[in-house]
Amino acid sequence: MSNKIFKGIWIVALSVFLASLVFIMGISYNYFTGLQKSQLKNETELAAQGVANAGMNYFDGLNTEGYRITWIGADGDVLYDSDADTATMENHMERDEVKQALAEGYGESTRYSSTLSDKQLYAAKRLPDGSVIRLSIVQMAIWALILGFAQPICIVILIALILTFVLASHIAKKIVKPINEIDLDKPEQYYGKENYKEVEPLLMHIAAQRNQLKKDQEQIEKTALIRQEFSANVSHELKTPLHAISGYAELLENGMVKEEDIKPFAGKIRSESSRMTKLVEDIIELTKLDNDGAEMEWEDCNLLRIAENAVDSLDAAASALNISVSVDGTDAPIKGIPQTLYSIVYNLCDNAIKYNHAGGSVSVEIRPQKNDTVLTVKDTGVGIPEECQDRVFERFYRVDRSHSTEVGGTGLGLSIVKHAVMIHGGRIKINSEIGKGTEFVVTFPNEPKEMLSKEEPEYYA
Ligand code: ADP
Repeated sequence: MSNKIFKGIWIVALSVFLASLVFIMGISYNYFTGLQKSQLKNETELAAQGVANAGMNYFDGLNTEGYRITWIGADGDVLYDSDADTATMENHMERDEVKQALAEGYGESTRYSSTLSDKQLYAAKRLPDGSVIRLSIVQMAIWALILGFAQPICIVILIALILTFVLASHIAKKIVKPINEIDLDKPEQYYGKENYKEVEPLLMHIAAQRNQLKKDQEQIEKTALIRQEFSANVSHELKTPLHAISGYAELLENGMVKEEDIKPFAGKIRSESSRMTKLVEDIIELTKLDNDGAEMEWEDCNLLRIAENAVDSLDAAASALNISVSVDGTDAPIKGIPQTLYSIVYNLCDNAIKYNHAGGSVSVEIRPQKNDTVLTVKDTGVGIPEECQDRVFERFYRVDRSHSTEVGGTGLGLSIVKHAVMIHGGRIKINSEIGKGTEFVVTFPNEPKEMLSKEEPEYYA
């Protein structure tokens, strides 16, 4: 970068210098031409006086080096010429400077002379007898001027080259130095500082990206930790029923179970295996939700129909505990993933039955509103202590572990619910009182604008 800046400054400085040089040469050329003309005029005046006084004698022994002097008679014939033979010269009456001198007393012109190839400056002065004295000089060519200045110009160019080289490398280093010294770990410390004003947007960009990276890193670490904990919990949860099954099987195998106990033992083996099956099913469902429902189909659903189906499938479980379940509400069209919406209602109602008192009740309500639909699942069960209400959505969290195991809970139901609600862009709230019952209120937007943002991994809770 320093190299590029250096080259840039060097090129600009040299270009400006060369352009100025050309400009100055142009001005100098005009100035010197003007000077040449006024000198020629003065010398013509002097020669005119000389010829007026001395006539042809004036030219005797006259040193005309660098000049050409011509005396033209009043009729235009050339009487004297310092450079050419007068006998061969044509009448000069029509020459511009002569015409002008005859008319106005003094005339001048510039042209290529017929006898000489250079560009000539002519000045003519009329004498009292009507004849004209004319002086001419070769106009200084621009290259002659440059040639004349060659030495000083070369010296100036050399000095300019050295100066621009030194200055350009100094400036380039000065520009790059503060940039090289930036501590990219703390770009904020340079905000507002004199040397860093120009690069402040870049520093802000770097700071923003660093923060984003930090956030992403924290997120990745958090997710990895949660996954690790989850795997450990899954292994633990699977081990318990497996141990029980193998223990019962071993007793049966060794003939240590009385004939009349064989049936209850087999029943225990079956209930432990169905607990395992339920656990595996819940894990599969959570894994699907972990992809934010990406592979699931979004459809136009009727939440009321879905709730009725979920409640129907829990009919037997509710009847076994003598719990009445009611579904109330109106048709509720929402956009969603049908099996996930089903899972929400199913898990909430399943809990409302599992953690209820025998003879209690569960009421499910679906209330479509202007922009959203509210699902309420209310029970007359044991209630959830306030301090546990936030934690019940965590994976494998149970308020009363033994009760949950007893009623066939896996500890994953509410985390599936929360995750599924968030995929639908909804919110979930608990109202509960110990001994009186619990109410879960879920609000779904009718048209979820976007899936849950990945920046909010709250659903891992
Ligand atoms: P589980 O499979 O144990 O029911 P959940 O994730 O569904 O797991 O629920 C977590 C815990 O929250 C449960 O173990 C239970 O203690 C409590 N809980 C959930 N729903 C209710 C409810 N309706 N009434 C009382 N407690 C509940």
